[in-house]
Order: sequence, then structure tokens, then C-alpha cells
Amino acid sequence: MIDANTKIAIVGGGIGGLVAGIALQKAGFNPVIYERAPEFGEVGAGISISPNATLGLESLGFTDYLNANANEPLEQRLYHGETGELLKTFDRRDCRETYKAAYCQLHRADLLNMLIDAFGRSNCAMNHALAAIDSRADGVTLTFEDGSIAEADVVIAADGLRSIIRDSLFDSDPPEFSGHVAWRALVPAEKLGPKSVDRLNINHLGTGRNIVSYPVRGSELVNIVALTKAEAWAEESWNAKAEKSELAAHYEGWADYVMELLEAIPGDELYRWGLFIRKPLENWVSGRTALLGDAAHPMLPYMGQGASCAIEDGVILGRAFAAAKTVDEALKIYADSRIERASLLQSESNLGGERLQTIDPYAFRNTPIKNEDALGIFAYDPATVPLVK
Ligand SMILES: Cc1cc2nc3c(=O)[nH]c(=O)nc-3n(C[C@H](O)[C@H](O)[C@H](O)COP(=O)(O)OP(=O)(O)OC[C@H]3O[C@@H](n4cnc5c(N)ncnc54)[C@H](O)[C@@H]3O)c2cc1C
Repeated sequence: MIDANTKIAIVGGGIGGLVAGIALQKAGFNPVIYERAPEFGEVGAGISISPNATLGLESLGFTDYLNANANEPLEQRLYHGETGELLKTFDRRDCRETYKAAYCQLHRADLLNMLIDAFGRSNCAMNHALAAIDSRADGVTLTFEDGSIAEADVVIAADGLRSIIRDSLFDSDPPEFSGHVAWRALVPAEKLGPKSVDRLNINHLGTGRNIVSYPVRGSELVNIVALTKAEAWAEESWNAKAEKSELAAHYEGWADYVMELLEAIPGDELYRWGLFIRKPLENWVSGRTALLGDAAHPMLPYMGQGASCAIEDGVILGRAFAAAKTVDEALKIYADSRIERASLLQSESNLGGERLQTIDPYAFRNTPIKNEDALGIFAYDPATVPLVK
């Protein structure tokens, strides 16, 4: 058994870092999260958590919260972007029966708050932006931008796609612009017609673009994610406020429902993200430091699996620490249990855009689509899947 006093530092308090922290607490440890931001915060957007991740969250004690607060879509529907014709329906009402867990749609801030409340704010060192890391065989030294230093026996790098830990210990290639751009907004449902709050995930498709909507917080808000293409990402920041007219230009002549969504976006609440990618890694452990979440496996959002995969990582990390005799063994079990699965999600998610946006939308009527169901992605339970020892 690993000594419960082992000093575990998690760098990054996003969904991945917090789930890892809670899973380690459940395994009997007292990890500390070092977070760069002065306060916790999430973008104003929705998030879908698929059954594979719901199972992970349930194993950490969140069943009641999710039952009370998550929206469960009955169906995911693909529509022709221009004509508005229904092309394909994926049944989601049977998730609980088939995968033993719900497909959840939430406000990101609600999910994050649920995790912070469980982990405990007092276990988080805010305003701690990591500047450098020295990861040795017997421990890790973290140096922060303000010059302060923390020593740990082991570090979990959950510092996101632009992870400086990944840069310094694993992969110095910078993130690459993928050619995909995401636009996000949350719209008060009262500004939209009744279809927007039906228990559906609605996806309109066309060449080089698609637009998704689903309700969150019951029927209070509607989450909109539009995905388009761009030759390059010229802006300095990787996300920025955007004008509605810029987004609307991509969807000219599209179906009435899409027009209704675009019209309803509040003027100053549209954000645009350049989506960047990094290559899959064959190794996530260096000395006493392991990668987790987007720091390990950033992926394009076409299958809604980035946070779900980070949740799976966190749950397996906790189980690895509970099962191992030494810290080194725990890190090995964690990485060996996760790399293949995460790399699959990463590569399939990255192909998702090509699948959704390159063919004639009518082809979806007759062609079997290689989506999450066909790939068997939901049929993974991080709480019970055998660990690789
Ligand atoms: C448009 C879009 C839609 C998406 N939709 C979904 C979805 O529906 N379902 C889904 O599962 N996934 C979705 N994702 C993916 C998901 O958002 C990410 O995969 C997930 O949030 C990654 O979590 P993380 O904790 O690994 O990283 P992050 O959320 O990036 O958190 C990293 C944390 O580390 C902190 N940090 C960074 N650098 C430092 C430093 N030097 N020192 C200290 N702290 C630092 C940051 O401040 C941040 O809090 C979507 C992504 C996009 C872009």
C-alpha cells in the first residue's frame, strides 16, 4: 500500500484535475491542486457527458447530483443544414439500459462547481501558475511564476492543451492549428421556439460546417456550438469574442431552425475558438510526473469526448493508486491502463469532423456512420474496467 501521506500535487484545476483529485481522495490521499487562475471558472457553454464518463462520476458519488441536474436527451438527430430534413436519429433513451448510465448534458459551470464542492476549495492553491518543473526518480520540484516553490512526491499534470509540463518533459512540438474553429454561445430558451428545449441533441450538417444545439439547466438555456473551417488562426489569443454576423456568414441560406438559433445569440456573448491539436503520446510518465486530460490527449470536439476522457483518466488514476504498492507502480498502472483507450478516442474524435462535414449530408440516410455507438465508445466503465498491471 502506498503511504497515505504521500505528497501528490495536481497542476491544473479543470475538469480533469478536479476529478483526479476527488478520485485520489477516495483512494485515501490528500492531493493539492495548484491552479493558475485566481478563481475557478468555466466558459459559458454546455457540455455533454456520455455514459462512459457518467459511470466514472457515479463511482465518485455524483449520481444524485447528475440525476437532479443533468438533461438527458432522448435522441441525437442529424439534419440537412440547408433543407432542414431529418437524416438520421440516434436513440439515447436506451443509454441507461444499454450502458447502465445516462447521457448527460449540463452547464459547464454546474459540472465544475459540483467537482469543486466535492474536492474542497481549501485543497486548492489558486494563483499558482507553474513556470518550471524538475521531475526526478524520487520526487518533483514545482517552481511557480511568483518564484514560490513546492516539493511533491508525485505530480499529475492536468494543465490542459497548452501544458507547460508536457512541453518541458514530453513533447516540445507546439500545438498545431487543426483548421477547425468552434463558436459557442448560451441562449436563454425564452428567445427560441419550443423545438430548442425538446429533449434532443440537434445537429445540422453541411460541407465544412455543422451546428449543434441542446438545452441545459432543464429548459432554461440552450447551448449552441457551431463548427466551421479556416485556413489559419491569425489571432493572438486562441479564443476571442466574435460578432454574430461573422458566424451567420457561414450559414447563409440554412434551415429556419439554424437561422432562429443564430438570431437568438445575445450580441456580446458569442465566443470563437481556434481548435489546436497535438500528437498522441506513447508515454505519459516522466520520473514522478504523469500527464492527464487535455495535457495528455487533446482532441477535437466532434464526439464530445475530451472531458469524458479526462474523467476516465481521473477515475483510473485513483484506482491505480489504491491498487499499487508504490508510487512508481501506480503511475505505470495508470498510464498502461489509459494510453490505448485515450489514443483511440483522440484519433477518432479528430476524424469526426471529416466524417460529419465532408460528405453530402444525404449520404447519412443510407451510410452507416462511424460514431460513438458504432465504435463502442460508451461501453467502457472506468470504475470497473480491469487495470493493466
Ligand atoms: C468547442 C468545444 C466543445 C467541447 N465539448 C465537449 C463535450 O461536450 N464533452 C466533452 O467531454 N468534452 C468536450 N470538449 C473538450 C473538453 O472541454 C476538454 O477536453 C476538457 O475541458 C479538458 O479538461 P482538462 O482539465 O484536461 O483541461 P482544461 O479544462 O484546459 O484545464 C486545465 C487547467 O489547468 C490550468 N493551467 C494551465 N496552465 C497552468 C499552469 N502553468 N499552472 C497552473 N495551472 C495551469 C488552467 O487554468 C485550467 O484550469 C469540448 C471542447 C471544445 C473546444
